Amino acid sequence: MKMYDVIGIGLGPSNLSLAALLEESTGLQALFFEEKESFTWHPGLLLEETTLQVPFMADLVTMANPRSEYTFLNYLKETGKLYLFFSYNEFTIPRAEYNQYLTWAANKLGNIRYSSKAVNVELDEKGYIVTVFNAKTKTYIQYFAHHIVMGTGQVPNVPVHVNDEWRDRVFPALRYAFKREELLNLNHITVVGSGQSAAEIFFDLMEHQNSHSFTVEWITRSPALRELETTKFRLEMFTPAYVQYFEELSFEKRKEGLAYFYQLRNGINPETLDKIYRKLYHRSLSSNSIRASIRLHTELESIEHGFILNLKHLEEERSLSTRTDAVILATGLKPNIPHWFHENFSHLIEWESDQHYKVGRDYSLSFKEPNPHHFFILTGLDQSHGTASTNLKLSVFRNQLIINKLAGYELFKIESTTSFQSFSSAVQGDDSFQKDMEVVRDVSYY
Ligand SMILES: Cc1cc2nc3c(=O)[nH]c(=O)nc-3n(C[C@H](O)[C@H](O)[C@H](O)COP(=O)(O)OP(=O)(O)OC[C@H]3O[C@@H](n4cnc5c(N)ncnc54)[C@H](O)[C@@H]3O)c2cc1C
Repeated sequence: MKMYDVIGIGLGPSNLSLAALLEESTGLQALFFEEKESFTWHPGLLLEETTLQVPFMADLVTMANPRSEYTFLNYLKETGKLYLFFSYNEFTIPRAEYNQYLTWAANKLGNIRYSSKAVNVELDEKGYIVTVFNAKTKTYIQYFAHHIVMGTGQVPNVPVHVNDEWRDRVFPALRYAFKREELLNLNHITVVGSGQSAAEIFFDLMEHQNSHSFTVEWITRSPALRELETTKFRLEMFTPAYVQYFEELSFEKRKEGLAYFYQLRNGINPETLDKIYRKLYHRSLSSNSIRASIRLHTELESIEHGFILNLKHLEEERSLSTRTDAVILATGLKPNIPHWFHENFSHLIEWESDQHYKVGRDYSLSFKEPNPHHFFILTGLDQSHGTASTNLKLSVFRNQLIINKLAGYELFKIESTTSFQSFSSAVQGDDSFQKDMEVVRDVSYY
């Protein structure tokens, strides 16, 4: 019976980063399971000209080890694209290229098993028993590990009931690119949602209206199409300093903070909004109808056969109905928590509320009884670590803390100055900048 030091469940950017960092910097025996048959990152939303919302430095490893073999820059070098990127001269990379980069890195790593779904995880006194179903061989195999890292990501949040037989016409945004061709010959398409995906799909459909006659409508609960906040000071909310500050607040204060910073995470890229507005304006010059509309303040309450959309204007509190031929639900994502987690671990761990498990600073679950076998979790962290917790910018930081815990010492040193602003009344770090700030504060009392 082989005992791994750590088993990772799910292989998105979070656990892929962990796999790369572990392989290069530790002798720990690690194995990662991914249920898909090969690596892909959100293939249904790799639309033309869409970009990541984080700089390329938020790759799998740079923030821990810029000299790593797995940096985005090394990917460019190995694939002969370094000069093209040099002249491209932008920090945000195409989403499709991010997927290519991740696939390149995943193909270099030997400790990943695809078509392998973790269907059960249990804890005994020796560690974790992970039962994996292999979709190719149709077999169940058990693996053993001292520690677990659950990186199962997120699944679409579907706010209304959708009948099974509607699924070709009413589906989550994550399937958009696969279904688009089937939609283009319909008469009316509705996009529901308030964030970046809704905006991108709305724009993409508008582009396809040049050669098709459908009308597209965008329905959003938002009172305004909100821009993603990208001011430099706001970006400091996506730093270790802020996450560590947030994580120490009381549960109630964290809940309040989350509502406040919602927009930071869920706004729409200003360029996308500008492109949409520009297109609408140019269309308004021609005698043809615009064939694209946006309803604000409007919540989708239910869908009936046909498809009739029952809507509610949230401010006027008025109900209304419209007819459409297809609905794309860009209504967000929610943590993907496997059933076995609830069944096997709910009673063993501490909870902050009915729905929120208690997670330590190092992303390990808090067990009621002393347990030397850590269970790290990389999804559903908003309540514990804040709106930035699962942002790609911080996935390397999360993994540094996890690896330090696994190694038993500070293998990765976290930079002491990660923001100019101080969030806590306590002094953060011992660096000269923070010290100077304290001196200035003291002096100002006199
Ligand atoms: C289109 C899109 C663009 C985004 N762009 C950004 C961005 O620019 N910046 C940003 O910060 N965030 C972005 N996000 C949000 C978030 O960062 C990404 O969703 C990111 O992929 C999360 O990474 P992850 O590894 O935690 O989870 P995921 O990427 O969701 O990966 C989880 C993996 O686990 C696998 N899995 C699940 N259960 C099991 C199981 N039981 N056994 C085996 N495998 C399993 C799944 O198949 C999946 O491959 C974006 C999200 C979307 C949808």
